[in-house]
Amino acid sequence: MKEKLIIIGSGPAGLTAAIYAARANLEPFIFEGFQAGGIPGGQLMITTVIENFPGFPDGITGPELMANMREQAIRHGARMIVDDVLETDCSARPFTLLSANGETFTADALIIASGAVARRLPLDSEVRLWGHGISACATCDGSLPVFRNRELAVIGGGDTAIEEALHLTQFASKVYLIHRRGELRASRVMQKRAKTNPKIEILWNKVVEEFAGDKMLSGLRLRDTVTGESSVLPMAGAFEAIGHVPNTAFLKGALELNILGYIVTRPGSTATSVAGVFAAGDVQDHKYRQAVTAAASGCMAAKEAEMWLRDQGFEG
Ligand SMILES: Cc1cc2nc3c(=O)[nH]c(=O)nc-3n(C[C@H](O)[C@H](O)[C@H](O)COP(=O)(O)OP(=O)(O)OC[C@H]3O[C@@H](n4cnc5c(N)ncnc54)[C@H](O)[C@@H]3O)c2cc1C
Repeated sequence: MKEKLIIIGSGPAGLTAAIYAARANLEPFIFEGFQAGGIPGGQLMITTVIENFPGFPDGITGPELMANMREQAIRHGARMIVDDVLETDCSARPFTLLSANGETFTADALIIASGAVARRLPLDSEVRLWGHGISACATCDGSLPVFRNRELAVIGGGDTAIEEALHLTQFASKVYLIHRRGELRASRVMQKRAKTNPKIEILWNKVVEEFAGDKMLSGLRLRDTVTGESSVLPMAGAFEAIGHVPNTAFLKGALELNILGYIVTRPGSTATSVAGVFAAGDVQDHKYRQAVTAAASGCMAAKEAEMWLRDQGFEG
C-alpha cells in the first residue's frame, strides 16, 4: 500500500504527530504497534494517574489520556492499524516497511515514534506489585501522596538513578540508592551530589531478591553480593532506574543510531540521517522521557514532514 506519510507508534509522540499531520491534510497512516515494543497507546497505558500533563488540573489516567489523543487524531482523519513494523528500508524513496502481518507498505515520508521500554527486574513479586509502590519513573510518580515523607529506594547506579534519587529527596524522609556493585557508574559530579546529600544513603553490593508486600510494597529483601547474606529493609516505594531499551530493532541499519540504540536527530530538529525520515519521542530522547516532551517532538516531526513533503512537490 502506498501512503504519503506513515507514523510508527501510537504513544504521545506518534498521536500528536498524527493530529498535526491529519490537520495538514497529509492523511497519515499510523502503525499503532501490537507487541514488539510495548502496546498500542505506549508506555502511559501501563500507568495510573498522570499529574504533570498540562491541561488536567485533577490529573488524568494514562489510558484515558491516550484514548483522548487517539480519538482526536481519528476525528481529524488519521487512519490506524494495530500491527508492528518488522523491517524498514530507507535506502530508496518511497521508503518501504514490512509489517508483522506480512504486508508491504511504502511512504513518501516517515515519522518514527516507536518509544522505548523501561528495563525491569525479572521478579514475580515485581510484576505483582508494579504500580503499587514500584515504578520506573520518579519524575512521574515521586510526588504522589503515598510516597511523601516515607523511606524510598532507587535501584541502579548510573546518572539516571542518581537524578531519580535527588528528585525524590524533595518528598521522601530518606532515599536509599541500591547498587549491585561497590562503585557507581555515574559521572563524578553526580556521584558527589549523591554522596553529599544528607537524605541519600547508598547501599553497596546489594541486589533485590524480592519485593515484599500484600497489596502495596512494604519492603525489599536484599542480598549482599559479597557476603551472600539476605535482609529485609522496610520501604514504601521503589523506583527502578536500570535503563531503557529504545524500540529500534526494526530499523536494522536503516538510520544512524547512537551507541545506546537511540535514533540520532539533528539538534533542534526531528530530522534523522535520512532525508524524509523524522523521529520523535523517547526513541530519540534518553534525557527527558516525558509525555509532554514526546508530544512536543511529535508536533515538530509532523511540521517538518509537512515542509519536507511540500519541498519535494507532494502537496498536502
Ligand atoms: C510506568 C510509567 C509511568 C509514566 N508516567 C509518566 C507521567 O506521569 N508523566 C509523563 O510525562 N511521563 C510519564 N512516563 C513517561 C512517558 O510514558 C513516556 O515519556 C512517553 O510515553 C513517550 O512517548 P512516545 O510516544 O515517545 O513512546 P511510547 O509511549 O513508548 O509509545 C511507543 C509506541 O510505539 C509502538 N511501537 C513500538 N515498536 C513498534 C514497532 N516495531 N512497530 C509499530 N509500533 C511500535 C508502541 O506499541 C507504542 O504505541 C511514564 C512512563 C512509565 C513507563
